[in-house]
Order: sequence, then structure tokens, then C-alpha cells
Amino acid sequence: MKNSFLIKYAEIGVKGRNRYLFEDALVQNAQNALDKIDGKFRVTKEYGRIYAMPQEAYDFDEAVDALQHVFGIVGICPMLQIEDEGFEHLCQNVLKYIEEHYETKDFTFKVMARRARKNYPMDSMELNQELGGRILDAFPKTRVDVHQPEVVIHVEIRNHINIYSKILPGPAGMPVGTAGKAMLLLSGGIDSPVAGYMTAKRGVVIDAVYFHAPPYTSERAKQKVIDLAKLVARYSGPMKLYVVNFTDIQMYIYDQCPHDELTIIMRRYMMRIAEQFAAKEKAHALITGESIGQVASQTMQSLAATNEVCTMPVFRPVIAFDKQEIIDISLKIGTYETSILPYEDCCTTFVAKHPVTKPNINVIKNSETHLTEKIDEMLQKAIDTVEIIEIGQ
Ligand code: ATP
Ligand code: MG
Repeated sequence: MKNSFLIKYAEIGVKGRNRYLFEDALVQNAQNALDKIDGKFRVTKEYGRIYAMPQEAYDFDEAVDALQHVFGIVGICPMLQIEDEGFEHLCQNVLKYIEEHYETKDFTFKVMARRARKNYPMDSMELNQELGGRILDAFPKTRVDVHQPEVVIHVEIRNHINIYSKILPGPAGMPVGTAGKAMLLLSGGIDSPVAGYMTAKRGVVIDAVYFHAPPYTSERAKQKVIDLAKLVARYSGPMKLYVVNFTDIQMYIYDQCPHDELTIIMRRYMMRIAEQFAAKEKAHALITGESIGQVASQTMQSLAATNEVCTMPVFRPVIAFDKQEIIDISLKIGTYETSILPYEDCCTTFVAKHPVTKPNINVIKNSETHLTEKIDEMLQKAIDTVEIIEIGQ
């Protein structure tokens, strides 16, 4: 018999009315993730349990990997689900389960039976004892240890009977789609994909915007961002990637404003544009990969100056992380290798040798007055000519 899966999720914070939204989103997201692999699954919800039942042959590792990208799942239990055809039938299947799942039958164990259906003729204690005895008989090298067993064999008597013993870790978090939407400023670096992943982990749907400056930034740099968006989308689900042509705006700022303020002013324009797309997508916040003190544009004063143009909240999930901590997450989620590809980014092309590290907002605002109404036309053009790429459909 093919293995099915019992999906465990954390129930903290999902009591009451929200619980159904949480569970339904989780069922849908798990179904979507499994629909992408070979083999057909049906994900169902039944009395506070979520099951993924295979309808045909599938690759076990691929299925586990798919589920490990679904936020909200804390545990993935390969499970043998059988009908109730009497105690003897149950025994045979428990032994068969152990036969298939453990190479060497040389471990300490206990049976943990749970009777959700009280009309079953044996109670939990009897089940534990009887099944334990049968396991000891069948596999003489196993030993019972009720305090610290190496293997806990769960037997759940419900409408069906579930047999499982292994819990593979899920990514935890909240199901994407249960917490609104935000717009990620996605560059080709290490930090912003991690920031997107972290926000999606709290259940937030993500769209992204990338500022492209051809010919100063190449097609390869753009492709790298598309690839990063695909990697984030494995967790966050399908997203729209807005690719904005930022060249004219960048050049104009470069011509009109002090070069040491260029990065800050540019960042302020990025935020303004991102907010327009966020509003269009009914997003409630922006997300960046900024981290205090990482570069000149991320000092406290620079962050304040960038933030000043935003009316939406700006989420900066990695704000207080060390670079190594961010790298560790990027390695874990598989974005690191792509992020370190050495393609130019639009901020480095024009970057000043000595950018201001403590910009004064009034000074910056004054410099921006050098940008006449031409900047508004450019802004509008950038918005009108945006390319929207559907990622991870
Ligand atoms: P990252 O590793 O995310 O690129 P970084 O350390 O290179 O970050 P900056 O280049 O200062 O830092 O960018 C800070 C944040 O601003 C990024 O994390 C990203 O959210 C946003 N950002 C920067 N450049 C772009 C861009 N070209 N397109 C979209 N967002 C950008
Ligand atoms: Mg960058």
C-alpha cells in the first residue's frame, strides 16, 4: 500500500473562527504544492486532521520536499491508513508498517494508541499492550521503553485507522493567504529574498518589484532576479514580479543632485514607485532586505530618510540580523547560490565613492527640488511601461 501523509500544524493562534480559514488555506496550499510533482494527491481535512492521500504512484522524497515548502505545516508524518477490519487486521498492518519503515528492527519503542471513536471494542491501554506484545513477538530485537522510546508508534482509531511513527519537520509559520499581501522590493542580493521568505512565512502573500537600469544592468541581472523570485515563490506561492525600467530616473537624479546623496534619493524614488504598485495590488505594506549599518544607505539616518516618503508600513524582517545570519537562511532556503552570482545591480553602477551616511532629511528634500516636473513624467512613464512577469504559476 502507498504511504499517505498526516500533516501536523501548530494550532496556536488559530482557535475559533480563524481556525477554518487557517486550515482551508493550508489544505489548498498543500494541494497546490503537490499538484506540481508527478503523481496525483488529494489533500483533505477531516475532524482537525489534514491528510494527503496519493491517488497513484509518486516519489516519496519529492512529495516530502513539496510539503516542506508549505508554511503552516510543522510536521509531515508518513502514514499507513487502513479501514477497521478487526484487531487481527490492524496487527498485521502495524507489523507491515514497521517492516517497511525500519531497516533494522533493533530499537526501543512504545505504542501510543488513541481512540477517537469510543465504540472500538478495545480501549487505548489494551491496544497499547496487545500491539506491543505482537511487535515484540514479531521483531525479537525490539524492546519496550515507555519513558524514552526511540520509536513511538501512533495508532489512531478514527473513521479510518492511522498508523505512523515518524515526524519529518515542516517549515512552520502560517499558511500563505491568511495575512494579507505585501510588496517586496526584490534586488539580486542576498537579503531581499530572505526578507520575502520571512514575511511569507507569516502567511503574507507576496508580489515583488525589481528596478532594472538597462544598459547599465544586463539581461542576466534581470534573469537572476526572476530566478530568485521563482525560488521565493516555491514558499510564497505564485507572485507577480514588476520589472521597472529605472534608467531615466536614475540618470536624471545623477545629473541634478549631489552625488553623495544619489543612493538615498534613488531609494526614495524606488519606494514611491513600489508603493504605487502595492496599492494597485491591494497590498498593505512594503518589504525590504535592509539591515542596520550594512551599507551607507542603511544607517539609521538613511533608513529614516528612505522611510520618510512611504505612507505604507515598511517591513524589514532582517533589520537586526547579522550578515551571517541572513546568509544562513539564504542557504537553508536555497537562494544563496543565485544571489552571489556576480551581476551588476542598479545601485552600484552610479554609486558615489563617499555616500552620505547621516543624511539630513531637509537637505535631501532640498536636493529633490532640483528635480523639476520632469521627474513626475519619468515616474509616470516608469509606471506605465512596467513589465509584469507571472512567477511560479
Ligand atoms: P540585497 O542583498 O537585498 O540586494 P543589499 O545589501 O544589496 O540588499 P541595498 O542594495 O542597499 O542592500 O538594498 C537594500 C534593499 O533595497 C534591498 O534589500 C531591496 O529590498 C531594495 N533594493 C535595492 N536595490 C533594488 C532594486 N534594484 N530593485 C528592487 N529593490 C531593490
Ligand atoms: Mg542590493
